Amino acid sequence: MRIINLKLDPSALKQSGCDRRFQLSIMRGHTSSITAEPLTMGTAIHKYAHQRARGDDLELAMTTAIDWYLEHLGVDSTLLISAISTYNPSLFLPLINLGHLEMYYEFLYRSYEFDDTKLNIYLCGTIDRLGINQETQQVVAYDYKSTRKYKLSEVVNDYRYTVQFMFYYWILRRHHDKVPQLFNVGELCDSATNVFVQPVPILLSAKPPTWNRGPLLQFETHLDEFEHMVGLQCDSIAQLYQLYQSQGLLAPPVGTMSDLCTRCEYAPACHSQIEGKFDDMIESLFTTRVYDPSKFGK
Ligand code: SF4
Repeated sequence: MRIINLKLDPSALKQSGCDRRFQLSIMRGHTSSITAEPLTMGTAIHKYAHQRARGDDLELAMTTAIDWYLEHLGVDSTLLISAISTYNPSLFLPLINLGHLEMYYEFLYRSYEFDDTKLNIYLCGTIDRLGINQETQQVVAYDYKSTRKYKLSEVVNDYRYTVQFMFYYWILRRHHDKVPQLFNVGELCDSATNVFVQPVPILLSAKPPTWNRGPLLQFETHLDEFEHMVGLQCDSIAQLYQLYQSQGLLAPPVGTMSDLCTRCEYAPACHSQIEGKFDDMIESLFTTRVYDPSKFGK
């Protein structure tokens, strides 16, 4: 039997608005060969914050972040230095466990069998940092967001209702028993009043760049809907594998019905007027690698 292991993280879930997009990005693993500079900058800033939180001194953490940034063709190390110089540990609740830093989790959520194939869908993701206040019993999942936008309110609004933050909240509240790093805070996560997700926007446009606390977010009233939505998404992904992948067929371009194509990187191939050239265009515009969130930022 052929086994397919699919790792579904919040970014993969976001792709599922268009079946073809999901197929190209997650199932077939076509990804842009050029890493956008903001992503490289963001990853370097994350690396610095993680090292400092782990206890590394400023000089070592800074050198590591800058070296990584330059190796990955970062072009503005001056901005990176300013951004990491203003890192402020007092923004966070205490870290009670180093396993709560860059906390990658992964667990089997659903399995499907069809034809001669077994599809295992794993849910996964990485929480940047989990802070715990033992006295107030607060558990806060922090997510660093570096941005070149100017207004903090705009940045906060960008993230307030995102799949990513709902996903984190849902994992903490409903699935903490499947994440070994959360076993020691399971009791806290069982109470709706204790759990929060908080964006930490790093405004690179400020002079100097600033680290900010976003609002403490909760999604308690959405938990059942979210659970249902993820289940439906898994069922539809399984159908997609069954109907298309096994037969080598491409999903229909449903994104066109909802204007998703406007900001889709696959649009040049998808909307190409040259008949029969779709796969050639995809091969020439993208590299192909297995979609594996456990390796992101490495
Ligand atoms: S261009 Fe449109 S139809 Fe094609 S993959 Fe992207 S969103 Fe889907």
